[in-house]
Order: sequence, then structure tokens, then C-alpha cells
Amino acid sequence: MAPPATGIHWPTRSVRLGSGSGLMSPVAPPESFLSLLTGSFATPAAENPTVAMVEAAYRHHGLDARYLNCEVAPEALGDAVRGARAMGWAGFNCSIPHKVAVLRHLDELAASASVIGAVNCVVRDGDRLVGENTDGQGFLASLRTVTDPAGKAFVVLGAGGAARAIAVEAALAGAASVTVVNRDRARGAELVALLRERTPARAELVGWDGTYRPPESAQVVVNATSVGLFPHVDARLDLDPDGLRPHMVVADVIANPPRTALIRDAEERGCVTLDGLGMLVGQGVIGVRLWTGVDPDPTVMRATLERIFTA
Ligand code: NDP
Repeated sequence: MAPPATGIHWPTRSVRLGSGSGLMSPVAPPESFLSLLTGSFATPAAENPTVAMVEAAYRHHGLDARYLNCEVAPEALGDAVRGARAMGWAGFNCSIPHKVAVLRHLDELAASASVIGAVNCVVRDGDRLVGENTDGQGFLASLRTVTDPAGKAFVVLGAGGAARAIAVEAALAGAASVTVVNRDRARGAELVALLRERTPARAELVGWDGTYRPPESAQVVVNATSVGLFPHVDARLDLDPDGLRPHMVVADVIANPPRTALIRDAEERGCVTLDGLGMLVGQGVIGVRLWTGVDPDPTVMRATLERIFTA
């Protein structure tokens, strides 16, 4: 197309920004002025650092893509999803309180999202919106850096959304058993029933009504409760820390702060530990891969979050 006679200088050749450039070059215009759009729908949204993590990956890999952090009230979720669909977004994350409500606005569910019954990542496939649950997959990606989940005995503390995603993905990845420990027995029993019906793993419930001591047989112990989340950084699980043994992998979903009381207790007892940043980065990596086709460098994403959480 010939440049219009406006005096504006239009690019005459395509220039790809190099991987790792981290900067938009003032002399190298992008190939297109239409960026790939992604983002997040949640409320509250302001404290969610995912935008910084994902955009760091986009910059690092020279991707002409944006991630918009959007404050979306429950009653506006349908409009937000229709808007993303109308504007051709490549996909978006859903966080609190939309992970279940978003299901009715989607065309299809990935296998594990359908078992978990919640979606935190939506991917456009042609004109269809497909719901994925990358929380549990992100956790497994973090876990696999230290051990294979197959054949392992898991203890999952909590039975909320994060626990559900982790327990289901661990069971589908071949965990031998999942022990769900929860205060609210009905909620815990629901997760155990789901694991028994939809996965091959053995599952049992322990009601959390006193100080819990993980059994010697446990190999992976995961805090999937909200205990320890900022600003309640000194909050402790009602758990006997001497039950944490050196052969155990101890993981926490709490990303802010990354060094929770549980992680410190487990380190002192010689356990291998995984903080909540590993899971957060893991789910972000999967989202970027699904939206852009590029496998992003997790170290860039983690470094961004570490800067934020230690600032
Ligand atoms: P939910 O509200 O769905 O579930 C909360 C769970 O925590 C319930 O099982 C609840 O037990 C339990 N719980 C809360 N307080 C206590 C307590 N004092 N003692 C024992 N158990 C307790 O929350 P989510 O599952 O969605 O989220 C949980 C945490 O996971 C959040 O802090 C969130 O930040 C984190 N998260 C981290 C991610 C990451 O990428 N790192 C991704 C997603 C979540 P009960 O049922 O008995 O009330």
C-alpha cells in the first residue's frame, strides 16, 4: 500500500524485534500496528502482579502482545467475555471471583478444567473460547523441577479452588494417593469424592480439627490454604512442624510473601521446598504458550515477581 500524503513517515520494510531486546526500538517499527491482546478479569484486580510477569515475558521474547489487567465485577463478566471475543483477544485469565462463573460464557472446556469445574485461563481457538485450568498444571510444572508426581503420596492442606486444581492434576499425573486435610469436612468430602470418581488415585479425607501431623508415608505436602497470605504474613497453619521430614517435598501456594512460615519450617527440617512463585510462574508460562505459541523463559517471569514481592 502506498503511504498516504500526510507527511507521516510509514515503514517501508518489516523489522522483527529480536528476542531478548527488552525495548521497543525507536527506529524499528513493528510489522503491524495491531498487537495480540490478552489480559485478566478479576475483582479486586489492582494487587494482581500477573500483568507485570506476563508483559516481562512478552518484552523478553520481542512479542508484539499486550496483557491488560481489568477490574471486572461479577455482573459484568458476560460483557467482558463478549468484549474480548468481539475484539479478537487471544485469551485471558480469570481470577477471583470468576473462575466458576466464566464457564457458562465459554464454548468448550479442556479435560482437566472440566474435572476441576473451574477455569483460570481462556484460550481462543478460531471463533471458540476454550477454558483451561492452569493453576494445577502450573503447580505440577514447579513440582517436576524437583520430583515426578507419579506414584507419590500427596497431602493437600485445604479443599478450595487451589487445592482442587492441585489435587486433580496430581491425581491425573499418576499420584498414588491424595490425602485432603480440611477444616470444613463437607468441602473436603466433596473433593475426595471428585478424586475417587474422576481420577485413578486413592483419596481420603482428614478433618482438620486439631494440630495436624503429616504421616511419615507422605512424600509431597502442599499448603493450598490461604494461610500466610499478605498481610497476614506471620499466620501459621495448625500443623506440627516436626511432622515435616527430610524425605518430603513441601510446597506452598502462597506467593506473597514467597518465604512463608511453612517454607521456613520445612527448610529447617531439611525438606525440599517449593514456594508459591513457582506455581504462579508455572501457570503464567502455560498461558503465554497457549496464547502466543512461544515457550517463555520462566526465569525472566520469576525475577519480575521477586522484584515486586521483595520491594
Ligand atoms: P478458597 O477460598 O477457595 O479456599 C481456601 C482454603 O483455605 C479452604 O480450604 C479453607 O478451609 C482453607 N483455610 C482458610 N483459612 C484456614 C485456616 N486458618 N486454617 C486451615 N485452613 C484454612 O481459596 P483458593 O483455593 O482459591 O486460594 C487459596 C490460596 O491459594 C490463596 O491464598 C491464593 O492466593 C493461593 N493461590 C496461589 C496461586 C499461585 O499461582 N501461587 C494460584 C491460585 C491460588 P475451609 O474450607 O475449612 O474454610
